[in-house]
Amino acid sequence: MIPPKPVVLVVIDGLTPSMFEAADTPALRFLAEHGEYRRAASTFPSLTPVCLASIATGAHPDVHEIPHLVWWHRQEQRLVEYGSSFAAIRAAGFARSLRDTIVDLNARHLAKDAETIYEALEDAGLTTAAINITCYRGRHRHLPTIPGVPAVNGPKRFFFYSLYESDQTGAPIAIRNRALGSIDAYAAAVGRWLVTRDGFDLLVHYLPDYDYASHAFGPDAAHEALARSDAAVAALMDAAGGPDEFLDRYAVVVCSDHGQSTVERTARLEALDGDLITASNRAAMVYTDAPRRAAERLDTEPSAGTVLFLEDGAVVARRDGDEHVALLDDVPDGRARAEAALRNPNAGEVLVSAAPGWEFLDLAGRHHLGGGSHGSLETADSEVPMLTVGLPPPPASITGIKELVAQHFGVAVARAA
Ligand SMILES: [Zn+2]
Repeated sequence: MIPPKPVVLVVIDGLTPSMFEAADTPALRFLAEHGEYRRAASTFPSLTPVCLASIATGAHPDVHEIPHLVWWHRQEQRLVEYGSSFAAIRAAGFARSLRDTIVDLNARHLAKDAETIYEALEDAGLTTAAINITCYRGRHRHLPTIPGVPAVNGPKRFFFYSLYESDQTGAPIAIRNRALGSIDAYAAAVGRWLVTRDGFDLLVHYLPDYDYASHAFGPDAAHEALARSDAAVAALMDAAGGPDEFLDRYAVVVCSDHGQSTVERTARLEALDGDLITASNRAAMVYTDAPRRAAERLDTEPSAGTVLFLEDGAVVARRDGDEHVALLDDVPDGRARAEAALRNPNAGEVLVSAAPGWEFLDLAGRHHLGGGSHGSLETADSEVPMLTVGLPPPPASITGIKELVAQHFGVAVARAA
C-alpha cells in the first residue's frame, strides 16, 4: 500500500475569495489549476485568533473557547487582548498581552478538551510542523530562543517568529520590518528547510502579512502582499524541485482564516449600567447581567448590525429592532456560527456583528478607516477561499480542514463533548 502523501496546509491570513480567484500569481495559479476549489465559511467572530483556533481544532468557539481578539476573563477578572493594534496591546499592558497572545492562548485559554490537529496526528505517530501560527498547541515542549520567555507545548517541528525554533534552519530574523514582508520571508526560509528534509507529515504554513497589508490598503487591493505570499509558496515548490515534483510529493490545502470588508465609518460602543464592552475590528461583546436590555439598547446604534444573545437557552437575533433568527439566513452558515459563538463560556452575553461598512474602535481608539477590517457575520468578512489538491473536495467551513487531513492519514479525530 502506498502511504498517504504528507500534507501542506497554507493559511494566507485575510485573503478574500475574490482576490484568490483573480490571482495571477504563479504558485497559487498552478495549485488552483490542479485542485478543487470552493468558497467556504469562516467562524464568528471572524477574527484571527478565533479562526485559527477553529482551523486547528476543527470546531467553532463553543468547543475551543477562544472568543475574540479582546475579551473579559471572568475567572481572572481582567481583559485579555491578543493584539487588536499596537496601541491596544500597550493599553492592555505590553508584557501581559504578549504573554496572552504567544503563550496563554494555547496553554490556558484554548479548551483543554478541544483536540488540535497537531495533537491528533502526533498521537497517531505522525510528525507535524507549524510555522508562525498562533494556535499551535501540541505534545512537544519548546524552549524559547530569548531568556525569560516561558517554554510552550507545540508540534514536534515548531517555528514561531524566531522566538521558538525546534531546529536550526538558518532563516533570517522574523520581525525586522513587517511592512516589507519579513515575516513571510522567514516563513519561506523555514518552509524551504522543512521541504528539503521531508521533515513532516503535516506542515501548517501560516502567512500573516497579507492581512496586515489588506487592513492598510483595503480588501482586494493588497496585490504586492499577495505576490509575497505566493513567493513563500513558490519557495516550497522550489525546495521540492519544482511545481510538479511538489505535487508528486505533497497533498495541499490553501485557505484563509477570514475575509475582509472596506471600512467607511467607525464607532465607539459605550457601555452603560456597569456593563462591559470589548470591541475590536467588526465585532463586539457585551458582558452584562441583562442581555435583552443591552441588546435592545443597540437597536438605534447605526454601527450595530446583527445583535445576538441567548434567552431561555435559545438564540435571539436582533437588527434595527427586528427580532428573528431568520436574520441569520442571509450570511454564510449564520445560525450555526451565531449559536457557537454565544455558547462559548468566555464570550460576552451579547455579541454584536458590525453593520456593513462600520468598524468598532479598539481599546486604544484605533481603527482601519479607509482600509479593510473583518470580524462580523457579514459575507465579506466570513467567506474564505478553500482549495484542496490531491485530497477530497474542499470542506464548506474552515472547521472541516482538521477532519479532512486526519481522514487522509486514516486518523480518527476526538470530538469534544
Ligand atoms: Zn486582520
